[in-house]
This record gives sequence, C-alpha cells and structure tokens, in this order.
Amino acid sequence: MYRCQLCNRVSRPGERATKVVMERRPTEYPSRGKAQRARSGRRAKSHDDPGGAGYEIAREAIACAACAEEQLAKEAAQADALGI
Ligand SMILES: [Zn+2]
Repeated sequence: MYRCQLCNRVSRPGERATKVVMERRPTEYPSRGKAQRARSGRRAKSHDDPGGAGYEIAREAIACAACAEEQLAKEAAQADALGI
C-alpha cells in the first residue's frame, strides 16, 4: 500500500503504483574516450562514446492509476508544446 503523492489518497491493498515524472531538466553528457569495449574474436576493440545532450528526470512521484493517466496526458500536451 502507498499514498498517492498527487491526490494524497491511500491505495487499496494490491493496487499498483506508477512512478510519474514531474519535472525534467536538460543536461549534457561529456564525451568519454574508449568507453565502449567490444570483442571480435580474441581482439578487444574500444570505441569512444561521443556524449551528447538530453533530458534527465529531476522530480518523480508515486501515483495511483487515475493520477498517473492524468499526469501522462499533461506531459504529452507539454511535450507537444515544447516540440520534443
Ligand atoms: Zn492519485
């Protein structure tokens, strides 16, 4: 059992919890030399990881099914607005 962090309702026993993303932040990942290792036969080869930019989760909440659905719809609308 858990308490939904969006509506503060206590769940019924056995009710599934869903983790929803409340906030994301843009982030950059630096390149890492020789981070990827691959073997072909007996020879090991390493490749550089180019790094890049993306989004990481800044805040997460445990939600009941109804709130999770609502939050998902909200996030989809937000993503459309941002063009992600
Ligand atoms: Zn809820």
